[in-house]
Amino acid sequence: MTALERDELLERIKKAVDAEPLDRESATKVAQHLEYAPHEILEPLMEAARELGIRGHGAEITVSRNIFIPLTNLCRNRCSYCTFAKGHKSPEVRNYLLDEVRSAVRDGLRAGCREALFCLGDKPEIAYRSYRDWLAKQGYSSTPAYLVDACRVAYEEGIYPHSNAGIMTPEELAELRRWNASMGLMLETTSARLRERGQAHYWAPDKDPARRIRMTRDAGELKIPFTSGILIGIGETPEERVETLFAIEALHREYGHIQEVIVQNFHPKPGTRMEHVPSPSDELMAGTVSLARLIFGPAQNLQAPPNLSPTSLELLARSGLNDWGGVSPVTIDFINPEAPWPELAELAVRTEAAGYRLRERLCVYPEYLRERPEFFDPEMLSRLRSDCDEDGYPTGRAFSQES
Ligand code: SF4
Repeated sequence: MTALERDELLERIKKAVDAEPLDRESATKVAQHLEYAPHEILEPLMEAARELGIRGHGAEITVSRNIFIPLTNLCRNRCSYCTFAKGHKSPEVRNYLLDEVRSAVRDGLRAGCREALFCLGDKPEIAYRSYRDWLAKQGYSSTPAYLVDACRVAYEEGIYPHSNAGIMTPEELAELRRWNASMGLMLETTSARLRERGQAHYWAPDKDPARRIRMTRDAGELKIPFTSGILIGIGETPEERVETLFAIEALHREYGHIQEVIVQNFHPKPGTRMEHVPSPSDELMAGTVSLARLIFGPAQNLQAPPNLSPTSLELLARSGLNDWGGVSPVTIDFINPEAPWPELAELAVRTEAAGYRLRERLCVYPEYLRERPEFFDPEMLSRLRSDCDEDGYPTGRAFSQES
């Protein structure tokens, strides 16, 4: 890219703050630049995104205090970067009984948590007879059916479930909606190429982008406040990153249900096929968050997980995001067990050092509670609203009181 072309791109970035979101062609140029020469555009890009983020959300970054319940760590897929999913003969296989769900929720409630994140493997009953038998012994024929009851138990104990259980049918989503304040499925990537032999998703039929887009669309039709996101560093190209962000944006434009977009970095894990692939750089991460802000505009909630970038929180905070996602004072990140959560008090201090205030939210975002009642069953809405102030934020302890 010549100096003139770069200057034109910087002009277009500035225009995205006041006039119009970034178009696909300009976004692609930004993504290419971030990949090959990030320092040439990073600061002005972040400055524009930061300005836009503050217009949409003020100088605040939110966080949800949660517990993580991996209902089963079996999965029918085998993504090349995953250590969460265990083989069915592994001594580390863990399936939660409903009593264990109840007990985990009570631990979370004692620690002030409001969200139970049910994150689990995709329909392991398709791959493993032993798990099918275990499920049948509990009285269920599928993981989503079991998850419905686990969410009901959690909800009745007094916490808000947020389920991320892989690909499900519209009927399964509809059943879960009653007991979930919000739900999610990372799109990760629109690249069908990553399903080819030797690529990250070759052994993962549920990572077929078309299936993930289909389910995200179903969630929109069912009016479920929904989390999506992009995974950076699994072999995708800059152009494919842009495709992925625009695919999420198009789904949200159609249904208005994408309540947050996660920009998540790949983390290599020993023992996986991708253990020697490096993580994306801090600059690429911050730049991609900024790019997402310029594509989505000021209102969208943009999140990056703080435990996956512990040395660059301040950089990320300046990149236009407005949310750190779920952080647990009780449970580890079972997907990335090597990456401990920051203490909430420390996160508050570091967020403030970057010029923002840390604020607690529920797993569903305040604007849905204030303005989108059609996204909830009446009983769920009434309980959510009774736990929040008129702006849709929960009342609770200050983060400085965390131990
Ligand atoms: S990343 Fe998710 S879908 Fe892929 S193997 Fe792990 S648990 Fe299964």
